[in-house]
Amino acid sequence: MAKEHKPSHVVGPKSLEYLSKEPRLFPKTYWSERTKLARFVVAKAEGPWLIDVDGNRYIDLTSQWATNNLGNVHPKLLEVTIEAMRQYGFLIFDMAPHVPQYELAEKLVEISPCPSLTKVDYEISGTEAVENAVKFALSAKKRPLILSFIGQYHGLSIGTVVLGSLGKDLIKYYEGFRGSVVYAPYPYVYRFKPEGMEPEEIGKWCIDYIEDYILPYVAPPERISAVLFEPIVAEAGVWVPPDSFVHGLRKLADKYGWFLICDEVQTGFGRTGKMFAIEYWGIDVDLMPLGKGLSGGMVPISAILGSEEAMCTTDDIFTGSTFAGHPAACAAAKVNIEIMLEERLPERAARLGEEALKRMKEWVDKYEIVGDARGRGFLLGIELVKDKKTKTPAKEEAREVFFECIKNGVLPIWDVDEWVIRVEPPLNIEEELLDKALNVIEDAIAKVQKSR
Ligand code: PMP
Repeated sequence: MAKEHKPSHVVGPKSLEYLSKEPRLFPKTYWSERTKLARFVVAKAEGPWLIDVDGNRYIDLTSQWATNNLGNVHPKLLEVTIEAMRQYGFLIFDMAPHVPQYELAEKLVEISPCPSLTKVDYEISGTEAVENAVKFALSAKKRPLILSFIGQYHGLSIGTVVLGSLGKDLIKYYEGFRGSVVYAPYPYVYRFKPEGMEPEEIGKWCIDYIEDYILPYVAPPERISAVLFEPIVAEAGVWVPPDSFVHGLRKLADKYGWFLICDEVQTGFGRTGKMFAIEYWGIDVDLMPLGKGLSGGMVPISAILGSEEAMCTTDDIFTGSTFAGHPAACAAAKVNIEIMLEERLPERAARLGEEALKRMKEWVDKYEIVGDARGRGFLLGIELVKDKKTKTPAKEEAREVFFECIKNGVLPIWDVDEWVIRVEPPLNIEEELLDKALNVIEDAIAKVQKSR
């Protein structure tokens, strides 16, 4: 079987050697035709660079899926991590509480974008942070239902896969677990029909839909604990909501006594040009799951920022797990935040992201297959379509653009069957390097368009 396994688009012979082992070692989902992502094997990661086993260099425009926001293997974060490892090794956060867990909690509360978020719960992954935020909401409100939105992604555990709604493949075989989740439309402005409505009207339409259809017919408001939302939908292809939508959610939550759970796992820690994306709207929320960029990717850690009401009205809930609040992760996370503030990296991402987006918007005019370009800060998406009129998703073209980029030394984010290419560089990437990487993406688009 291994002999027959010849992945296409492999960049070098040594990479191929490793990749050929995959059918023997890993679940099919790692290597089947359906799931080919990057087709090179990393030998070294350094700042904005990945270097593969054949010696090829790639500009990493993924920050490892919005995790290594200070670039790969940031020297200061590495130093702090090693030092904390030496001092504490691993300690259980509630049995042998350690200094870094207190220091990080203070820091997170200090940078909290909402006055009500004064408590910190530690977890390991973004998935667990979202699941436990939902558990806090259900147990504090003592109501059974959660309102979520179509297109959102919150993780792949059974709990989070049903909290999200990112296409039929993710939910297949687990549909039965959907039980207490109710789904409403999220404003995906580019594809909203009927066309011609202003973005703010679309945002309002989505809010009205909740009031006019969901609440009277599907889920009475007094049975809902919380609304779970992404302030900018990332995985579905960077959907930036109109103001009317986010403010509308706050109004509904006030009216019906719901918590707002704002999933900042991907948008947090400077990614969108603010420390947290919710700052664009200045609203208060009750629970905020955090992950990915929290420790700059050094040691896995996630957290939930929560309000007194959400986290302290009852102790009738169990959260956390063995490795939650790892000492070295807490130590790295604190320094990661300090560096971001010192170097004003969110502001930098806002400025450079705006320039990059301006350039991407020019591609919309220039190339038939570029339907839309959007985003905030360094969370940017380029939506590929077969043609601008029908807006048919151009999945094959997106795949080809992605592989063309890799062949030319640039790694953007793209996942199976997607038609949006995402650009999420480290917040401290050099301007010239970003320019160079954008040139490669544009050349790839031009080439794929020409070859159709
Ligand atoms: N929420 C959002 C918004 C995410 O983007 C992700 C990961 N892509 C998660 C939750 C899950 O995080 P993790 O993969 O760390 O479990």
